Amino acid sequence: MIALIQAGGAGTRLKSITGDMPKPMVPICGKPILEWQIENLHENGVDDFIIVISPNGKAIPNYFGDGGKFGVRIEYIEEKEPLGTGGVLGLLQGKIQDDFILCFGDLMLNICWKKFIDFHREKHSSLTAFAHPNSHPFDSDVLVTDEKDRLVRIDSKHNVRNYYYKNLTNAGLYVCSKDVISFVQEPAKIDFEKVVLQHFINEGKAFAYRSSEYVKDCGTPDRYYGVTNDLKNEIIPAKSLANLQKCIFLDRDGTINKFGDFVRSANQLELAPGAAEAIKLINESSYLAICVTNQPVVARGETTFEELENIHNKMEDLLGEQGAYLNDLFFCPHHPDKGYPGEVPELKISCDCRKPKIGMLLKAKEKYNIDLTQSWMIGDTKQDIQTGINAGCRTILLTTGDPNPNRRYQEAQPTYMCSTLLEAVRLILKIKKGE
Ligand SMILES: [Zn+2]
Repeated sequence: MIALIQAGGAGTRLKSITGDMPKPMVPICGKPILEWQIENLHENGVDDFIIVISPNGKAIPNYFGDGGKFGVRIEYIEEKEPLGTGGVLGLLQGKIQDDFILCFGDLMLNICWKKFIDFHREKHSSLTAFAHPNSHPFDSDVLVTDEKDRLVRIDSKHNVRNYYYKNLTNAGLYVCSKDVISFVQEPAKIDFEKVVLQHFINEGKAFAYRSSEYVKDCGTPDRYYGVTNDLKNEIIPAKSLANLQKCIFLDRDGTINKFGDFVRSANQLELAPGAAEAIKLINESSYLAICVTNQPVVARGETTFEELENIHNKMEDLLGEQGAYLNDLFFCPHHPDKGYPGEVPELKISCDCRKPKIGMLLKAKEKYNIDLTQSWMIGDTKQDIQTGINAGCRTILLTTGDPNPNRRYQEAQPTYMCSTLLEAVRLILKIKKGE
């Protein structure tokens, strides 16, 4: 597979660090960002590169040459005048006959490309965007997807959002089919996202691949220093799904949000004090933050799937306002006991996902390559603790309410007890550091 890297950007906001260097040449711990990218792609079996440079980007071919030193083959295309992120595709007619990778040269990343490419092929997608939650969804364009991960639209950060939305943003990495090349027949000044991606969204042929892996741009001095620290702290390669992941599984009601009674509509949801701060700490660590929640209110007919999604979107938005995000959320809508007025008969089953069964944790393990023995389960009931024990995780019981309302899991002993989620997360991160 060929990787097309757009390395023509000017990078003026980084001038204090880079001087006149093209942004992809900015060194992170002694190596240009672009070299980190090429290395990651090469490790994933990608050996052919086309790098688009601007007329003042000669430092790139001067450094990388034909790629031989790096074990790859590199061809350069010089953009005589700025064509915009989409227009350069017009220079590639005849050069690409198959699926290819497109990425922007100023991104620090380390991902398992095989998973991304497999997803693209399974979906028979024309254009697949790498998507992830970020710490500032409120001032980001967000991706709106359907239940099959098909991209429905891009909601611009300039729009007024008077609804609860998913924290899912476009990272700037794509797997493209050759249709993308055919679409841009000749070089013209067009924006990739606004014109090319939008075209394939309109056709229903664009998908979003959601991942927890590390992809960040280094476009401002603050971000540059953040990325440098993450690399020093070994967070960047650790997050690649090619490596085993560690996760902190979080119960929802009474752990992330305040719990009085079941939450049946979005307006009833309020975050627990300190929850966003705690999840932000997880986001900055090498752990994943994944919520696993039993929502029998759906089976009992007390809320709908639609409203449950709205509740979860509100939770994401409240967390996002404070710079925190969940890597994913799994819920069990089932309930085993029949006899509630308005219940949904097909959900009244004994399933494999209702905690303390571990179906949701196994699904997360499969999707994110999680080592359960290196992971934690935090919740406010013994049912959560039993779940963690059943999955082979260590556990923390939050003493925020009655830990065992049904008196069913007397035997379940947590590894630790804490009074808040923040205290629990701080404890885990301390143990990890060996303090
Ligand atoms: Zn279930």
